[in-house]
Amino acid sequence: MIPLSVPNISGNEWKYVKDCLDTGWISSVGSYVNEFEKKFAEYVGAPYAVACMNGTAALHIALQLCGVRRNDYVIVPNITFIASANSVTYTGASPILIDVEPDTWQMDTRLLKKFLQDQTEKKGNDLVLRSDGRRIAAIMPVHVLGNMCDMDAITEIAEEYGVTVVEDATEALGSTFKGKNSGLFSKMSCFSFNGNKIISTGGGGMMVTSDEALAKKAKHLTTQAKADPMEYFHDEIGYNYRLVNVLAAIGVAQMEQFPSFLEKKKKIDRFYRKELGDTGDIVFQKVQHDTDPNCWLFTFSTDRKQALLQYLNSNGVQSRPFWVPMNQLPMFSSDLYITNDNNSQKIYNRSVSIPCSTGITDEELQTVVSTIKSFYDEDV
Ligand SMILES: *Cc1c(COP(=O)(O)O)cnc(C)c1O
Repeated sequence: MIPLSVPNISGNEWKYVKDCLDTGWISSVGSYVNEFEKKFAEYVGAPYAVACMNGTAALHIALQLCGVRRNDYVIVPNITFIASANSVTYTGASPILIDVEPDTWQMDTRLLKKFLQDQTEKKGNDLVLRSDGRRIAAIMPVHVLGNMCDMDAITEIAEEYGVTVVEDATEALGSTFKGKNSGLFSKMSCFSFNGNKIISTGGGGMMVTSDEALAKKAKHLTTQAKADPMEYFHDEIGYNYRLVNVLAAIGVAQMEQFPSFLEKKKKIDRFYRKELGDTGDIVFQKVQHDTDPNCWLFTFSTDRKQALLQYLNSNGVQSRPFWVPMNQLPMFSSDLYITNDNNSQKIYNRSVSIPCSTGITDEELQTVVSTIKSFYDEDV
């Protein structure tokens, strides 16, 4: 089976992990956590980076530090991985779901703007939903599949309406919009190092910010809010969300290889776009000309999604459907969903993700393509 997207352990991972094991520094403290944060911040170009145990935890803390409170609303796209919407609920807030654009599959910023115009109002310093007076505390753009949202539009809207932006850049390490790295467009942005992401620590996450005080608070909150170096005095409710040293060691080794991973993802993307462009009814996710995506997970649309998924998975090519839109999940089905044409549903109905691990060989790429072609050929 050619796997969908698996970690690539081909650098100094063994060496650095062995170092942790040999020295006993496997847990909360150790030099690899600091080194991973430093390397990551340098790459993204953010002054501060704070590591934590996964991307979901990073989003939770980022929202909390950006002032999201119980009963607030946070705006998220209706097509995203569940963690974006879940993290909103951990703060006691509720998501407002905005439909996505039909071609880029990113949050529809015109729809967002129209919603804010029509259904919200200013109350003191706050922006509230007119129907119930609840505050809209933040917008969480998600760079779906490593392609990027129109961050000019999001930034402009957020400024006009006075709402904080928290970027879910979990899939988009290395993606740029107008030459600027993902993660640099909001007060606090989050990344993930889950097993299928472009770099992986098994499980891991990172928050980046240009605000030193926020970075300090993020470290504090993710380490049980211990306020005294000696005494077990904790000055607020904190979380045990830290990234352990042994995983950070893997992260350091992954960052060393990241440039080559990024290059490989782009190469895979070019190959599939070239080879599959005229195959069946396949349509690719559109990339806006201002965007240079990291090409994290190769996904395309076809009317024959179910049959293709079944064919590929039974012919040694692991492939997966897209995420079920948030408004269709039991927890979020009664939340506000803003849409004109329910593009989320249409995209979900037609999308298939295919193998694109950074370790995939040229031969495997050929196999994926020929298997897809034979599916469409056999049918005519
Ligand atoms: C992977 C992912 C997350 C969460 O990351 P974890 O590290 O798995 O907790 C959040 N949002 C999106 C869009 C993701 O793809």
